[in-house]
Amino acid sequence: MKNYILPTYKRININFISGKGSWLYTKKDKYLDFSSGIAVNCLGHANKKLIDALQHQSKKIWHTSNLFRISEQEELAKKLCESSFAEKVFFCNSGAEAIEGLIKIVRRYHYYLGNYKRKNIIVFDNAFHGRTITSIQAGSSENHRLGFLAKNNCDCGFNRVKPNEIDLLEKKINSTTAAILIEPIQGEGGVNTFSLSYFKKIKKLCEKNNILLAFDEVQSGIARTGKLFSHQKYGVTPDIMCLAKGLGGGFPIGAILMTEQVSKCMDFGSHGSTFGGNQLACSVALAVMKEVTKDSFLQRVQKNGDFFKEGILKLKKKYSNLIKSIRGEGLLLGIEIRASNEKFCTLAREKKLLLVPAANGVVRLLPPLNVKKNEVKLAISIIEKCLKEMS
Ligand SMILES: *Cc1c(COP(=O)(O)O)cnc(C)c1O
Repeated sequence: MKNYILPTYKRININFISGKGSWLYTKKDKYLDFSSGIAVNCLGHANKKLIDALQHQSKKIWHTSNLFRISEQEELAKKLCESSFAEKVFFCNSGAEAIEGLIKIVRRYHYYLGNYKRKNIIVFDNAFHGRTITSIQAGSSENHRLGFLAKNNCDCGFNRVKPNEIDLLEKKINSTTAAILIEPIQGEGGVNTFSLSYFKKIKKLCEKNNILLAFDEVQSGIARTGKLFSHQKYGVTPDIMCLAKGLGGGFPIGAILMTEQVSKCMDFGSHGSTFGGNQLACSVALAVMKEVTKDSFLQRVQKNGDFFKEGILKLKKKYSNLIKSIRGEGLLLGIEIRASNEKFCTLAREKKLLLVPAANGVVRLLPPLNVKKNEVKLAISIIEKCLKEMS
């Protein structure tokens, strides 16, 4: 058959027809899914609570637009705010759309205060914030920008800096700086974590210079790291934050969370979305939130994450020729290998384990957050088989 799909992805020739928990099925095979649709299917496939929420809502009402009150949206916003630093929420449909909105809001915040010049945002090496025209400029990949921008590959309005060096960051701040935008753990960039003290220092710099601290928790949020939001372990809160990926457990939804103070600049007519926060999306996301905010759920993510990390740390000792580092937290883990990460993922897939490559030679391990311990064990044994074959 002629292929009608724009070839922007190098697609793997497997067509899954169903899923259950951590497993995906084709007509003849089953695969252990440690990719979770790129950190999206946080409660696995065909989760009963999510199916119930979707089915129940689908029979009542799907969409009315934001011209009307939406009680499901109000309830989800309440849950998100009660579980975080935030006091106001804007709903949209994806991570990049949330980032776009966030960029608008931090600029508008300073405009509203009369600081018309504060439009620039400090971003980091290895950052990823989505694929829209603005978010490719916030991201660090030159490939993502190639051919799309008026000035060749410019990142106008963004100042990039090397992470983990507070002096370099301080030097970038000037009277045009509106915000610092950072992923508390970089996902696509190679599962890169930062030191605890770094965030405390960033927060101080933001307060001192009257600039906003913005977190992109699109990948690291929604319990992925064992905390509901990965920044919570740093003891530092942002002024504004983006969510998407795990929030809908597979149903597309994004959100921008912010403090009351930041929200004041966004008055009537200042931003909008037709689909954002409709009844169907919010009902599913609320069911996700009810599950992932349970203490027992978060503890299990932490426990299985620790178990998984210990397992691959053991492999690192045994295969130190192949494994350069083990990275990440909770169930956002990565193996930096000295061979092709793509090839490693292919090998694992041939053994019926699905993994995702990240930048800088890293293989990402992203099981559903409700993965079972014996599934983690199975994944470790398959990873070991791949290492054996490669060495
Ligand atoms: C995936 C991702 C995005 C983009 O989300 P989309 O839903 O693909 O637009 C933005 N930021 C981070 C950190 C991400 O991981």
